[in-house]
Amino acid sequence: MTPVASFRGRSVALFGLGGSGLATAQALAAGGAHVAAWDDKPTSRGKALEAGVPVVDLTEADWSGFSALVLSPGVPLTHPVPHWTVEKARAAGVEIIGDVELFCRERAATAPDAPFIAITGTNGKSTTTALISHLVREAGLDCQMGGNIGTAVLSLAPPAAGRVHVVECSSFQIDLAPSLAPTVGVLLNITPDHLDRHGTMENYAAIKERLVAGAEVAVVGVDDDWCRAIEARLRGAGRRVIPISVERVLEEGISAEDHVIARRLAGKRIVLADLAGIGSLRGAHNAQNAAAAIAALETIGVDEKVIRKGLASFPGLAHRMEQVRRIGRTLFVNDSKATNADAAEKALAAFPSDIHWIIGGVPKEGGIAPLAPLFGRVAKAYLIGEASDDFAATLEGRTAFTRCGALEAAVAAAAADAAASDAAEPVVLLSPACASYDQYPNFEVRGTHFRDLVLALPDTPSTDASPPGKA
Ligand code: ADP
Repeated sequence: MTPVASFRGRSVALFGLGGSGLATAQALAAGGAHVAAWDDKPTSRGKALEAGVPVVDLTEADWSGFSALVLSPGVPLTHPVPHWTVEKARAAGVEIIGDVELFCRERAATAPDAPFIAITGTNGKSTTTALISHLVREAGLDCQMGGNIGTAVLSLAPPAAGRVHVVECSSFQIDLAPSLAPTVGVLLNITPDHLDRHGTMENYAAIKERLVAGAEVAVVGVDDDWCRAIEARLRGAGRRVIPISVERVLEEGISAEDHVIARRLAGKRIVLADLAGIGSLRGAHNAQNAAAAIAALETIGVDEKVIRKGLASFPGLAHRMEQVRRIGRTLFVNDSKATNADAAEKALAAFPSDIHWIIGGVPKEGGIAPLAPLFGRVAKAYLIGEASDDFAATLEGRTAFTRCGALEAAVAAAAADAAASDAAEPVVLLSPACASYDQYPNFEVRGTHFRDLVLALPDTPSTDASPPGKA
């Protein structure tokens, strides 16, 4: 844990008692603050009391006595409407911050030179955070990974010399962290997302920009207009920026030329890594993640050879292009995290042909129509869940498909068809382009079910499409 000493002896209101809220309350208390914690949900308040966190009804409290309101990132700060605690804090002139801000203040006060890599972007945050952490560990350094991924930032060990904090930041966390100033800030990309919570693209992009604007070195993906403008502004302001691209060769910066990642500087080209054959980093989107990770690791002084070796041993993250197994020639890939067409597009683009594509669930607006240019790579689609009618209508006359209802039948049919095909490397790909909640509590449970079904398949390819255990 990182005790937060910056509020020692003062009263702090804390709203939102999920996992990170509880950890934050404990870190504040450990640093000597008087915490008044609250949540609208009685069950969350009960858990806090069990954990020894003092619960105070903030609807009734005297707000003039608080030094800060520490807000959970899930609670609306601005849109669609500010949460009632935000209104109360503003009325009383109380500053509103989040756990990442508390971490930053602690680092600034105790170990300002401790290496701190912060990562954001609309897509690829978790993969890049996990990859950077893997490389830091492979370099033999003490790595503390957390934030929006896994562990709450204040549950990590405190910042210290030689200890590298690798922190994934959502836009909500950045919005609550005015003094975010990492050693390396990574901004991967910006595409429309969470606009219900940020109002406009301008506001969403401005929040993302703050993570790199405060960084000693900014690593910025320049393959979209928003990030290109941010990179230009930083450079114009004389900041240290490393631009990265997977779409064009940059004169100055790091580019992915197909699977080769190279730096160009003053007309010279230096190859940094070759991602060919690294299954966990397949696809152009992962080349962007890898290029960002390389730039971050080089900035904190890790040797190129160590980086190259670490890339090759990256196990990847579960549910994101996760290679589950090979049976005969067939590769089985779990990309359950692809809950929209944009993410599924990346998965389809990563395989040239012979994709047995399992799709469906609760469709997002627009369905899979935007993916039509990639339908030629699909040998057959296997439809599950609510989206089946919708997707069947889009695929009709363009790509073979079959309605499977649920994942059991889809896996069995796709595995059998792949085994019977004469393709050199058929792929059974779960990349559903849909939310999961018609059939599963979340994408993790859906992906785990897929993995279990695949692992239960016999070792020798079977062309029998009956699901295991069923006649
Ligand atoms: P996040 O943490 O930002 O949600 P993840 O690393 O969990 O991102 O990846 C989620 C999905 O987004 C992946 O399954 C993949 O389809 C897609 N993705 C990953 N990296 C990128 C990237 N750099 N650009 C665009 N899409 C990406």
